[in-house]
Amino acid sequence: MSVKAIAARVAAGERIGPEEARELYLAAPTHLLGRLADDIRARRHPERIVTYIIDRNVNYTNVCVARCSFCAFYRPVGSAEGYVLGFDEIFRKIDETIEVGGGQLLLQGGHNPDLPLEWYEDLFRAVKQRYPGFRLHALSPPEVVHLSRLSRLPVPEVLRRLIAAGLDSVPGGGAEILVDRVRKLLNCYNKATADEWLDVMRHAHRAGLRTTATMMYGSVETPEERLEHLFRLRDLQDETGGFTAFIAWSYQPEHTELQGEEATGVEYLRTLSTARIVLDNFRNLQASWVTQGGRVGQVSLAFGANDMGSVMIEENVVRAAGASYCMDEVEIVANIEDAGFVPKRRNMHYEILGDPIFRERQVPRRFGLEVARAEGDTSTPAELVNYAARSTAGRRARSEARGA
Ligand code: SF4
Repeated sequence: MSVKAIAARVAAGERIGPEEARELYLAAPTHLLGRLADDIRARRHPERIVTYIIDRNVNYTNVCVARCSFCAFYRPVGSAEGYVLGFDEIFRKIDETIEVGGGQLLLQGGHNPDLPLEWYEDLFRAVKQRYPGFRLHALSPPEVVHLSRLSRLPVPEVLRRLIAAGLDSVPGGGAEILVDRVRKLLNCYNKATADEWLDVMRHAHRAGLRTTATMMYGSVETPEERLEHLFRLRDLQDETGGFTAFIAWSYQPEHTELQGEEATGVEYLRTLSTARIVLDNFRNLQASWVTQGGRVGQVSLAFGANDMGSVMIEENVVRAAGASYCMDEVEIVANIEDAGFVPKRRNMHYEILGDPIFRERQVPRRFGLEVARAEGDTSTPAELVNYAARSTAGRRARSEARGA
């Protein structure tokens, strides 16, 4: 089918299949993809509202046994640069998040063999006890798989325990490309296969959680594999309806083992608009300004995105790979309004909370992103001695700490 005929089908609100999506993605002019995606965005969000959330991206540990080749963030077990945040440090970060109007943490980390399931349960309970209305958008599917293997409990049971402790929703991280050929090349097949990633989301949705879905493109995959990723998400969304949003970002090559080139802004816009066309059962698409910068983030609003993601107070993972864009609420709102949209704050379920908080009360401005820990801080949280370590180095360190 010609690009023109496929475009007419999309414009008429019809669902397209993999062959048609491939033809559009590879052959349609960028402005046509943008127009089709923008029309879909306008049909779904005719009120011209663009949402964003104020939250904090906290990485509770950088110690990881998965060793994905695209990751510049992790440190191996026993590394002097490895860290685990203490409960008190996390509470302090929540206090700062609440101060700027935030209501949730995006909590993700490495696959640390020395943090058992009980550590997560105790942390979640402690957060909920101290901050009852605060939300935990936490633990991407590969982390849940890791906890399932570590605790020798099935995924639904791990989720049940985490939900009982306070888990509110699951972020869509760790999806990369949901094709096992690609996952093997990126050394992330062992942390979770494509089916395992989807299955965690299926179980989370069945347990009543809403989750997001992501895609990291631009490493070693083909265009067809990007599309396969989108169609696998669309299929699961047909089945469960549990995804709130889709977020695509480009692979950031700096300081990674894999190296390579970063995809261009045009490739990002083509990928975003194709996702809006294919994912006809997703209500929300985020603009990825953290990897693309504020200007491309703003242009994304004309290519299918209806959400500016997070006013991110802290970010560690993308920064480790070379991207360091930062926008506080004032800047995000300016970008939305300059593009002709109405900015509204939202929660993790994409429910509108209100107008920009800085227009309601004085909020400290933030011109740089915080990091998990100050440089050179190698302290070990006191409560860690209460938890069983799995690694030899971890067991030795804990028994020394107990004897001290
Ligand atoms: S991407 Fe996540 S799972 Fe992979 S090495 Fe980095 S921290 Fe570990």
